[in-house]
Amino acid sequence: MAPVYDHGGGVRSLRVPIPDNPLGHTLVYVVDTDRGPVLVDTGWDDPASWEALTAGLTACGTSVAEILGVVVTHHHPDHHGLSGRVREASGAWIALHPADAAVVRRTRAARPGRWLTYLAARLTAAGAPEHHVAPLRAAPADALPGLSPALPDREIVPGGLLDLPGRRLRAIWTPGHTPGHVCLHLEEHHPSDRTGHGRLFSGDHLLPGITPHIGLYEDPDDTTMTDPLGDYLDSLERVGRLTPAEVLPAHQHAFDDAAGRVRLLLAHHAERLTGVLALLTGPLTPWQLAERMEWNRPWAEIPHGSRNIAVAEAEAHLRHLVKLDRVQPVPGSDPVAYIAA
Ligand SMILES: [Zn+2]
Ligand SMILES: [Zn+2]
Repeated sequence: MAPVYDHGGGVRSLRVPIPDNPLGHTLVYVVDTDRGPVLVDTGWDDPASWEALTAGLTACGTSVAEILGVVVTHHHPDHHGLSGRVREASGAWIALHPADAAVVRRTRAARPGRWLTYLAARLTAAGAPEHHVAPLRAAPADALPGLSPALPDREIVPGGLLDLPGRRLRAIWTPGHTPGHVCLHLEEHHPSDRTGHGRLFSGDHLLPGITPHIGLYEDPDDTTMTDPLGDYLDSLERVGRLTPAEVLPAHQHAFDDAAGRVRLLLAHHAERLTGVLALLTGPLTPWQLAERMEWNRPWAEIPHGSRNIAVAEAEAHLRHLVKLDRVQPVPGSDPVAYIAA
């Protein structure tokens, strides 16, 4: 696979590998401007990924030192991981939505072990059995690698144009996958005259063959009852209405018919919510619900870490159904169980 793909109209993509991950790579987009290239996302912070990024930029006829700015779709390490290194090498600005910038600040400030303590408490509250939670409590405080994601220099303003000299790139706030996820709408004529409105850099929000993970926003210091799944469904409709001529996602490959993909994802989630409701004829904790939901393999074969992600998805469904008054918590239950209303 060629390291660089030319999408036309001053947009190219680089395949930056994600180590030990079935997704394989992040598509980093290089957008030419009148004052140097701007990157959409940067890739995982790993020597091989850095090598791929810098080699790809050389193949584009530029270099990392020439980068004017970095627009980050969301804070996840396969998107924002190398942003700090790019800034060091070039003096580029980094732009991120304030809600994801808050996650970055919290990650940088967190004491070692804070995340594990939070996760153990959350799983216990969700009804996880002691044998699942105990290893988290027993883990040494420094069991997780100290992540130090780069602080942004600029805030992405929802609905606003980014500062790309000679180009029109508008930020579309699409919370759901993360609280501050943005898609970026290149409001320019499609270089191959395809019908539709410009091109959309969709990050992880809209992918051609994957349903992005929608869990909880996971803020140890915030007890607000957010509804990430509801946010995601609203955000899907918002990008569908843009009717871009082409979608440039952060994984897999470019595709057209954004509206069709949005309809498919909305139908998938509607079906999943119906399935969850059908399971809630009797009271279930989030853990018990997760055990009964359909995953890509039987529950017994899902490893420890993936079970935590599955329980977060189950909770996201419960929160959304509670908000719609379709499900209610059972009074006096501890851990809290839920039942169809
Ligand atoms: Zn992501
Ligand atoms: Zn991703």
